[in-house]
Amino acid sequence: MNKRLLTGLQPSGELTIGNYIGGIRQVVNYEKDYETFLFVPDMHSITVPQDPETLHRRVREIVGMYLACGVSPTENHIYVQSEIPQHANLSWILECSAYIGELSRMTQFKAKAEGKKEIGCGLFTYPVLMAADILLYNAQYVPTGADQKQHVELARNLAQRFNAKYGDTFVVPEPLIPKVGAKIRDLLSPDKKMSKSAANPRGSIFLNDPEKAIRKKIMGAVTDSDTFVKFDEENKPGVSNLLTIYACFSDTSIEETEKHFADARYGDLKKEVAELLVEKLTVLQDKFAEIMKSGLVDETLDRGRDAVRPIAEETYDKVRRLVGLGRL
Ligand code: ATP
Ligand code: MG
Repeated sequence: MNKRLLTGLQPSGELTIGNYIGGIRQVVNYEKDYETFLFVPDMHSITVPQDPETLHRRVREIVGMYLACGVSPTENHIYVQSEIPQHANLSWILECSAYIGELSRMTQFKAKAEGKKEIGCGLFTYPVLMAADILLYNAQYVPTGADQKQHVELARNLAQRFNAKYGDTFVVPEPLIPKVGAKIRDLLSPDKKMSKSAANPRGSIFLNDPEKAIRKKIMGAVTDSDTFVKFDEENKPGVSNLLTIYACFSDTSIEETEKHFADARYGDLKKEVAELLVEKLTVLQDKFAEIMKSGLVDETLDRGRDAVRPIAEETYDKVRRLVGLGRL
């Protein structure tokens, strides 16, 4: 059997170029070699407040974007998390063996809870649900950006803990983190990662941004007070970010990109990055519009749901029996 690969992007906002590079692009590269599970983690999205109508719309749109980015509608299982109830069921069982200490150490939890008076429990247990998403399908590989590495690590720990107690049940997953583009940075705060739900949208390039916004945001990207272009993530995070974006969207290496811009000034670098993004994202946006007018999204999601449901049911049934739930 083909090894399984699984990933998902939350419908918590419009997808960014970071999501494309860290998430979708990897699926496009790997889908031929693995049985691929690409899901819409809508249950993760409600760990922070969401408008119900917008969330419904985004569930479909995000799949439209997956497809517009080149993900095959037939080579993969594309489905909505909340349509498979075993995600939540398994999450509960895993939650009962997860420790408050290990969840408290999660960087994403700390970042998303920062400054909030009331912190939802879902935000805290989010990584356990993510572990359930992965373990339910016994996925071996999980392509993600660097930000999710810690969560995949937790999924590994929970799988090993369960296996040690109840016998070999879960495949222990491994993260697949791209060598280039694992952390696309916010254009205005290069110390942070670009996020679709960032407070200031001017720091993120969204896949559906109009041409004018793309140019404006890239031209306004924070760089540094030097005048030379060099890839140095530690000392020149803003410039290195622009080089990374260029390398990823032009399918060239960082070294080649650095050479290409060796004599460029920051203004020239930004202009060329903006030009490339406008060119690539316009094509993508046209495809997206076409897909959304067709019935492809619902067809794909129906097929995906029907394909994964028996797998989820089988794993969950095995697990609940091992734990002692329900009747044998
Ligand atoms: P949110 O702000 O709602 O958490 P997000 O932009 O972090 O949104 P997620 O849905 O949490 O997006 O993550 C989807 C995928 O995109 C994950 O694989 C994640 O690792 C990847 N990803 C997110 N941000 C970046 C980034 N800045 N660079 C590279 N990959 C990223
Ligand atoms: Mg995130």
